[in-house]
Amino acid sequence: MSTDKTTSKTEFTRRNALKLLGLGTAGVLAEDVLHGTEVASPSSPQATEVVVVGAGFSGLAAARNLVRQGRKVIVLEARDRVGGRVKPGKLAGHTIDLGGMWVGPSQTRLLELLQEYGVKTTPQFLAGKDIMEITGRRVTAEGEDFGFAPGDQPDYDRLLEKLNALVAVIPVEAPWTAANAEELDDMTVDEWLRANTQNKAVLSLMNMEIRATFTAETYQISLLYFLFYLRSGNNFDKIMSFKNGAQAFHVPGSMHQLAPKMAAELGKALVMQAPVHEISQDAKGVIVVSEKGTWHANRAIVAIPIPLAARIAYRPELPPERDILSEHMPMGSVIKYWVAYEKPFWRDRGMNGLVLSDEPPTSGFADCSPPEGKPGFLVGFFEASRAIRFTGRPMEERKKVIVQRVVDFFGPEAANPIDYIDCDWPSDPWSRGCYGPSMGPGVLTSLGKNLRTSFGRIHWAGTETSPVWTGYIEGAIRSGERAAAEVMDNLK
Ligand SMILES: Cc1cc2nc3c(=O)[nH]c(=O)nc-3n(C[C@H](O)[C@H](O)[C@H](O)COP(=O)(O)OP(=O)(O)OC[C@H]3O[C@@H](n4cnc5c(N)ncnc54)[C@H](O)[C@@H]3O)c2cc1C
Repeated sequence: MSTDKTTSKTEFTRRNALKLLGLGTAGVLAEDVLHGTEVASPSSPQATEVVVVGAGFSGLAAARNLVRQGRKVIVLEARDRVGGRVKPGKLAGHTIDLGGMWVGPSQTRLLELLQEYGVKTTPQFLAGKDIMEITGRRVTAEGEDFGFAPGDQPDYDRLLEKLNALVAVIPVEAPWTAANAEELDDMTVDEWLRANTQNKAVLSLMNMEIRATFTAETYQISLLYFLFYLRSGNNFDKIMSFKNGAQAFHVPGSMHQLAPKMAAELGKALVMQAPVHEISQDAKGVIVVSEKGTWHANRAIVAIPIPLAARIAYRPELPPERDILSEHMPMGSVIKYWVAYEKPFWRDRGMNGLVLSDEPPTSGFADCSPPEGKPGFLVGFFEASRAIRFTGRPMEERKKVIVQRVVDFFGPEAANPIDYIDCDWPSDPWSRGCYGPSMGPGVLTSLGKNLRTSFGRIHWAGTETSPVWTGYIEGAIRSGERAAAEVMDNLK
């Protein structure tokens, strides 16, 4: 496989730098590590079979499966609500999603759960013309016209063809075994893009699309990690697209409503406002210490974002491969906003409300008005460096720049919204950013195999551990179900 970039095999690549830290060879974390160790337990821990840390979709999926198989489970959740990175909010009297929201046709486990719990989806509204603004050129058109000047589209198509060829051969369960894995992991996405096109409009569009998807800049993401992520969601088109892609449907009344429905099956097994600070294990079991009490169990499933999992104290200490993996997976940054108008007035002009732009502060917004057609809702994001600039600032400041942006595209009628809300995810202590973490160069080949390798009695869930739709709700559900199956195998 060729990357069309000649990477000289220097002795000191970024990957080798990680190797020098002693991380190049992941050890198997066998339960043997626990033999002979004994941990002093705090006074009278409560007994259960499995403790699940975190009640996001991964923790809920894991706990639900275990409870359905007759296991005694306790779920410890830090927040006062379930759903994690899927969170409800109120806009003009309607419940909307401030976190994860869209679902696509190949996200089959999520679609099955929505059906099982009677939660209806609706297609993303796309009837009419959208606006694409690339390098100062604004085009209003139906379908996938990117506002390219004549001649740029073939360059874009050629680049995507090359990219999709690289994506197609990534072994999604073990991307570190890809042909040329080290070469691919030694460079950033930015380096690959610039080595493969000099077309400014194409580069700017790619940067915008990737920033919007990864909530990180292309110079921060390893090419191999990028290819793996795209493969895990099929390919570039499926990840980026609304029609038939990851943004095909949303849920009127919120995707979040699925989380309390799943949690209802857990009853008293769910303990809220119970941040976990410490997990100890020995040959007899695992002890999980939270602000709401201490539990002794046979197994624990840690179902929280990898960087946050590193904030828990472990005894014995985590193996260095796992610990340093978490230090090399920084969370992305995103602030999600919603603006409400009396009605979706843009529709009267034949517009579908979809705007994509490479200009700061937002890569654009989409029309997610309720199916009744009133009020009119636009939803969008500040991402990556643009979110970092606005995190921790008063919401009014962000509202001002976003409303101005809508006015830029839709005219003075947009100046007086009836409501605005946003969610500053980097300021949230139980996510510390979103949508999720990415890997920089050298990390996936050196440390990737530790993503879901259990450590003694501790099993890892969370969307980042899923080879399928990693980073999405679908990945979270699959990871929880995989961790529950691992635990069941060990409880036999
Ligand atoms: C703005 C935004 C938009 C998104 N859009 C989409 C989308 O449209 N479609 C899609 O599929 N995905 C989307 N995502 C991603 C999706 O929401 C996540 O991939 C998914 O929800 C992750 O679930 P999880 O269970 O892996 O982790 P989380 O949801 O992060 O769950 C972890 C839980 O653990 C808890 N926790 C953390 N630390 C501790 C501790 N020490 N002790 C106890 N509990 C703890 C947290 O409070 C949280 O409830 C979006 C995310 C965001 C933020």
